[in-house]
Amino acid sequence: DSVLELDGVTKVYDEQPPVPALRGVSFCVRPGALVAIVGPSGSGKSTLLHVMGTLERPSSGVVRIAGVDAARLSDRELSLLRAREIGFVFQQFFLAEHATVRENVADGLLYAGVPAAERYRRADEALERVGLAERASFKPTRISGGERQRVAIARAVVGRPAIVLADEPTGNLDSTTGASIMELIRELNAAGATIVMITHDAGLADRLPRQVRMLDGRVISDCG
Ligand code: ADP
Ligand code: ADP
Repeated sequence: DSVLELDGVTKVYDEQPPVPALRGVSFCVRPGALVAIVGPSGSGKSTLLHVMGTLERPSSGVVRIAGVDAARLSDRELSLLRAREIGFVFQQFFLAEHATVRENVADGLLYAGVPAAERYRRADEALERVGLAERASFKPTRISGGERQRVAIARAVVGRPAIVLADEPTGNLDSTTGASIMELIRELNAAGATIVMITHDAGLADRLPRQVRMLDGRVISDCG
């Protein structure tokens, strides 16, 4: 029983010459897992995350999200599945600067068809979970980098997705702030969230229960 399953996935970017970014990747993520994807720059980590998140279709192979074969879905159905089942966190936060913290988090429920009042109520709940309740009415420009990433994380988990995919969530933060974000990620996982995160920080990855190591578009070791 997997939240997410990849079977023989390849991805070749359509360039001249073509760029093979994934060369046959198979692995699965069980409910409640906390997985680190590690490997050198260019090894295919971001591509893997994009394919897992259905932001990119694979060139071949199977991607199953919550038991559903993504290839069978239209782009529209895929957007809906993504909105319901997947939360994304990126290195660059991607917050709307003119909206408040609360509105940014509530936007995580926009495509799930939740009425506005309910969106704001659940946004406040999610902000509580990430320790930012008192920043709800601030604009992102008035809070720190670590707080911005907490907002992005609250937006990713507000819909209680089946899986959270994070691409270098500590990559733009100093090491102390990064450590506190890692602590938050562990807390959310302990509370039941299934999380896959990319990191190039071997020290961070070593402290997580499972590491998937990539090299040249392949998974070279999968511990745990
Ligand atoms: P990372 O920091 O994970 O190594 P990259 O710097 O490789 O990420 O890539 C950052 C973004 O740019 C990603 O969204 C990736 O898909 C895109 N990208 C990377 N390489 C290329 C490329 N050769 N052509 C177009 N887009 C690329
Ligand atoms: P990583 O995240 O480990 O740095 P990426 O998945 O970003 O690796 O990149 C894997 C390979 O695919 C690299 O050679 C990169 O340049 C290439 N690549 C990534 N994104 C794109 C893209 N959108 N278009 C073309 N090539 C890309």
